[in-house]
Amino acid sequence: MKALTTAQVLVLARFALMLLEMALIRAHLVHGRYTLKDTLASIGMRAGNYATNVALAGATVVVFTWIYQFRVYDISMSSPWAWAAIVVLDDLAYYWFHRISHECRFWWAAHVNHHSSQEYNLSTAIRQPWTGVLVGTWAPWFVLLLIGFPPEMIFLQSGLNLLYQFWIHTEAIRRMPAWFEYLFNTPSHHRVHHASNPRYVDRNYAGIFMVWDRMFGTFVAERDDDPPQYGLIHDIDTFNPIKIAFHEWAAMFRDVGRARSLREIGGCIFGPPGWRPDGSGPTAANVRAAWMAAPQGESPAAS
Ligand SMILES: [Zn+2]
Ligand SMILES: [Zn+2]
Repeated sequence: MKALTTAQVLVLARFALMLLEMALIRAHLVHGRYTLKDTLASIGMRAGNYATNVALAGATVVVFTWIYQFRVYDISMSSPWAWAAIVVLDDLAYYWFHRISHECRFWWAAHVNHHSSQEYNLSTAIRQPWTGVLVGTWAPWFVLLLIGFPPEMIFLQSGLNLLYQFWIHTEAIRRMPAWFEYLFNTPSHHRVHHASNPRYVDRNYAGIFMVWDRMFGTFVAERDDDPPQYGLIHDIDTFNPIKIAFHEWAAMFRDVGRARSLREIGGCIFGPPGWRPDGSGPTAANVRAAWMAAPQGESPAAS
């Protein structure tokens, strides 16, 4: 019998863990929720993501190799120090890629689908974009190439980073030990990231190390009195992968068509999601500001 490749083993391991989570939820041993339509939509998103990644792999390698020729140092893949450095620096690049993907609509249009589920379980982790490679969200990694990290080292480490993030998409684990919660991204921190509550929206961007959010002022801890409401500020209520992948692009082009000036075109494309010319749009900042200005005692989750 032909041996399985590492990629195939990882796919099977992910499915095995999803089945385990489903069984534990059904037995009422852990918290969580699965619905068939939502899980199938997430699997469809991963299939499309895989197809676009494969289709564009050649172009990605060409771009990375071209930039690598301008490197300052020659960093060896056999150096343990180089691996220690790239684990940290890749996650720093991930933080900025992820933050830009939330704060600027052009990149949000690709990333939004990862946040489109109103459930939060291991299948949410595989709900991945179809247009991420096309819009160049890998640009923050160019800095690593210019420093001198080889492209194959960057591809491997960014893959390991995404692999780390699989297990944190669950409600089955409430909190990890305090030291772990301080240093690393955890199910609790990432539940916050997937929530649309005013307190939580656009927070906790790190991939592995939560220290980036603490350092750059985007960290917020999950609170038991403000349970996460998963999904978008305005949910899209569809399980069709094509609509999930392209709905924000369609909305963006519609808004550009209605724009009355260059400023409005720029705001529709590169402003924050929810941007409106008069500044009144439901952006994360406006939603948070309205909630903070609400009278004391109002339910935070309902605001
Ligand atoms: Zn995100
Ligand atoms: Zn996620």
